[in-house]
Order: sequence, then structure tokens, then C-alpha cells
Amino acid sequence: MQKVIASIDREALRYNFRVIKSHVPESKIIAVVKANAYGHGLLEVAKTLSDADAYAVARIEEALELRSGGIVKPIILLEGLFNPEDVQVVSASNLETAVGSWEQLEWIEKAHLQSPVKVWMALNTGMHRLGLNEDEAEEFYSRLMKSENVVKPIGLISHLSCADDLSSDYTKKQIEVFRRFASAHECHTALANSAGILSWPESHTDYVRPGIILYGVSPYDGKTGEDLGLKPVMTLKSNLIAVRKVRKGDKVGYGATWTASRDTRLGIVAMGYGDGYPRQAPNGTPVLINGRIAGTAGHVCMDMMAIDLGPDSTDRVGDEVILWGRGLPVEKISELVGTIPYELILRLTDRVVKEYV
Ligand SMILES: *Cc1c(COP(=O)(O)O)cnc(C)c1O
Repeated sequence: MQKVIASIDREALRYNFRVIKSHVPESKIIAVVKANAYGHGLLEVAKTLSDADAYAVARIEEALELRSGGIVKPIILLEGLFNPEDVQVVSASNLETAVGSWEQLEWIEKAHLQSPVKVWMALNTGMHRLGLNEDEAEEFYSRLMKSENVVKPIGLISHLSCADDLSSDYTKKQIEVFRRFASAHECHTALANSAGILSWPESHTDYVRPGIILYGVSPYDGKTGEDLGLKPVMTLKSNLIAVRKVRKGDKVGYGATWTASRDTRLGIVAMGYGDGYPRQAPNGTPVLINGRIAGTAGHVCMDMMAIDLGPDSTDRVGDEVILWGRGLPVEKISELVGTIPYELILRLTDRVVKEYV
């Protein structure tokens, strides 16, 4: 039986963590493991990153999965509370939560709690997604500080929206707004995401929140994780399930969108959009087989795809094919497909077996 495997390299994960630490020796690290640890497996990743000071997730269910899996370190809900009942869950499971709206504040103020909750006040510094605008932040802060349901001191959190764009001064402005509020109030602070950690030293505060770089993937267009000194954590692989000859002029796959320009051999790979491989991958998208690059031929199907092995190839049924990861950066594929690597590593389907090595 040949499986379609996403091989997760624990050592690479720990390696990337150490690289991050070397960029921010003064800061504590909140490992962002939302969305199933960017597709790498929530609990396994959290356990592997045992040196992290805290973990961050988007949804309360993710936090509870970590708690029931034995994670005792701080866990922060980045999106905060979705309804009043969530306050009880946060308190009972000793979670921490971002608070970024007046509704969330009221839910906390009005709750009857066994023990107060740890909160991170979300300040909107320019993303305009969650968080308090600067002109309402003062009142919000003082209400949080007055509430008996809130542990003091509180945290201050904000998110950079353009930190991957090194030519923009937007990030500088965001950092200014954040620092202005932080320096005038007692609080611990968390601002930098991956690109902030790598490119904006002024964004390094008490805590940083790396996501994508933990997984060895670049937050920048046109650069790979390896360019940044990181190691890819996920390697997606499958096998050849057939090798066939085609003649010059033969047309391959649904819609006959690829035509052989010479007599050649095609490899059929057990990998398709049913596994989460992007169907938009154009003809010639690279895969790695027996140490060399081959290109896709024709539309990616649900369960299979064809690759052009070349006329003199000796590849055989059963040979391993790497779709991205070690030796073939996922950033190369996402660029060809017109998306960001975050999306590709995240959207593998349940059919892909994760293997931790
Ligand atoms: C997802 C997320 C991060 C991590 O972002 P990366 O670009 O993956 O480093 C940090 N902070 C918040 C609030 C997030 O939502």
C-alpha cells in the first residue's frame, strides 16, 4: 500500500524555533499554532515546540484540544470571545484571550467567574480588523483595569498588516501607535508576526508571535524559507502508480490541455486536488522525482496527476514523488498557482496521512 504522506520533520521545527530565538533573544515566543498548526498537526506541533513560552490559536476549540492533550503552558485566543459563554470556558480552562470589542468587554465585566481571566487588549494600529481604535483605547483600558474579572496587569496586542513589504512605511506607523500606547500604560506587549520578527526590530516587544516561519516557510513574495535560513517542516509526497509512453502530439488529461512535443514517458502520480494539491497548477509545475525536477502535464485530476518524465527516463512504478518540501520549496508552487504558501500547506485534506519523523 502506498500512502500519500505529509512528512512532518520535528527537528526542522525545533531548528526554526532556534533561528527565531536568535532573532529575538530578548523576547518571549508565542508559537502560533492556529488552523491545525498551519496544517502540520496542532497537538504534535505544540508538543514538539516545548520551548515555546506560550501558544496562540484562533478558536476556543483549538485551545481545548491543546489542554486536553496535556499542554499546560499559556494559550492565547487571538480572535477573542465569540459569545458570553466563552468567558466561562476561558476561565475554567485557564486560557488567555484577546479582547478587541466593547461587546467582548461587556461579556467579561458581567460574567460570574470562579477565577479572573487573563486578557490581551487588542489595539487597532492600522489593520482595521479587530481591536480598539486609538481614540477609544484609553476608556477601554481603564474599564478592563477596573473589572474584578480581569487579571492585572493586562497584555497589549496588535497585528501588523504589511510587515512583509519592506518598502512601505505603514509598519513604522503601526509600531509607533503601538509603542505610544504601551509606554503610557502598564502592560506586557506582543506585536511582531513572522515578517516583523525578521525585518522590523522595532516591533520586537515583550512577546513575539511567529507563525509561518516556524514551519520553515517565507512570509515574503519571491523568497523561500531556505533563503531566510529556515528548514521546511512539511514534505508532501506520493508515488508513481503508472508509467506510460506517449507519442509526439498525444494530448493528456481532462480537456486535453497538454500536448506531447516529442515522444516521451509520462508518470502518473497518486496526488490530486482531492488531497489538497492545487488544481490551478499550470502545465510544467515542478515536482521532484529521483533527485530531478519534472513538470506536470495536463490538468491535475481529483486523485491523480501526470508528469513528463522525459524520453530516456528510467523511473518506475512505486518511485517516490515529492510535491513540495525538502528540495522543492512550497513557495515555488504557490507562486505558479497564484496564491500564498500559507494556503497550500493548510488545505491538505484528511486523505493525506501525516507522518512525524
Ligand atoms: C496568524 C497570526 C500571526 C502569525 O502570522 P505569521 O505571518 O504566520 O507569522 C500572528 N498574530 C496574529 C494575530 C495572527 O492572526
